Amino acid sequence: SARVIPRTEHEISRRQLSYGALQVLNGLHRAGFQAYLVGGSVRDLLLGREPKDFDVATDARPEQVRKLFRRNARLIGRRFILAHVQFGEEIIEVATFRGGSAEQQDAGERSASGRILADNSYGSLEEDARRRDLTANALYYNIADRSILDFSTGLEDLRAGRLRMIGDPRTRYSEDPVRMLRAVRFAAKLGFRLDEAAQEPMAECRSLLGEVPPARLFDETLKLFLTGHGLASFELLRQHGLFAILFPTVEAALAEDALEPSRRLLQLALEGTDERVVAGKSVTPAFLFAALLWPALQIQCATRESAGESPALALQRAAAELLQEASGRVTVPRRFSLPMREIWDLQARFQRRGGRRPYALLAHPRFRAAFDFLELRSRAGEISAALPQWWLAFQEADHGAREALVAQAR
Ligand code: ATP
Ligand code: MG
Repeated sequence: SARVIPRTEHEISRRQLSYGALQVLNGLHRAGFQAYLVGGSVRDLLLGREPKDFDVATDARPEQVRKLFRRNARLIGRRFILAHVQFGEEIIEVATFRGGSAEQQDAGERSASGRILADNSYGSLEEDARRRDLTANALYYNIADRSILDFSTGLEDLRAGRLRMIGDPRTRYSEDPVRMLRAVRFAAKLGFRLDEAAQEPMAECRSLLGEVPPARLFDETLKLFLTGHGLASFELLRQHGLFAILFPTVEAALAEDALEPSRRLLQLALEGTDERVVAGKSVTPAFLFAALLWPALQIQCATRESAGESPALALQRAAAELLQEASGRVTVPRRFSLPMREIWDLQARFQRRGGRRPYALLAHPRFRAAFDFLELRSRAGEISAALPQWWLAFQEADHGAREALVAQAR
């Protein structure tokens, strides 16, 4: 029993849909299938925000979708089979209505590769709505009559700026602990309030995040921190005790009084990242993780140095140890952890400015990121501004002036 909001009573117009979304919705509809826009796109359009992507829900089976959009479609199987329909750069994700709880589905029939095969994982539109995470994410835009369907309290919650889980939050978190991270992510992104019922079981359910594959947590971490609302995500994650589960060593380090500059550095890094995303500039996971793990790195280096290790060796070992520990919860892939470690390694090299060293450092492929990090450390009050200033001057100077700077740095 859905509430139907006719076209005359809502603001979404077909012109706001992407070319690909319209092709898919109209194509399915003409072939006699049900076709709805669902999830983040409906939510964002109703809020007057630009959708990141368009997801479609239908009663057509993945194989039928593939036949319909032949050249443009391919089936992909992660947790369940979906069709991706491509138009130029744009990919529309088309999911067949799903039924049952996630729990039932995870226990259900799977192929050797883990895909759920059983037909009973498909369901009705109403069942599909019930197994989505938040009420605001469970609104359906019907291409047939351009109405919006609300099976829960999505519209009312959207208007109130409130996030609520569909069903019993404790049960929903147990079925899929990542829903806690999603709830926090949307609260940060939309500036919405998580209702009390969605907050309350987090304390009890948060440890279940330890059972989620670390690679999935890494993906989720990127969405939390690299999509324009990283600082708000960080604060909310900490407030709900989720950050401590994802990054226990960092959480412990953040409690140390002596690490005020590292706390500040992390905050500045997240702020800077958010500004870059809003300005449409690129952001790199390597830099984010360099800042995120920095407080924990400080602690571990200090411990090692006081046990007599040289700073260089301490850094090397602490970094390796930290990644090892972090990867128990959140796996940072090597293509990001290697440049991250370079950013750290280069910090020590900024100090040594004799002879040809500054020239070699300037030519290092990671110089730019490492220099940005050096500036962050200075702005955070961890080191004096003199060092980044020297390097700034060195970068901008011509050859003669560079020689003078090198002479002066001795
Ligand atoms: P955005 O794409 O802007 O990050 P979104 O709401 O579209 O936000 P997606 O991850 O693209 O998020 O998921 C699409 C929809 O699928 C969601 O709106 C929600 O209805 C449903 N969904 C996604 N992940 C889950 C989950 N773990 N549990 C239940 N429903 C989910
Ligand atoms: Mg989406």
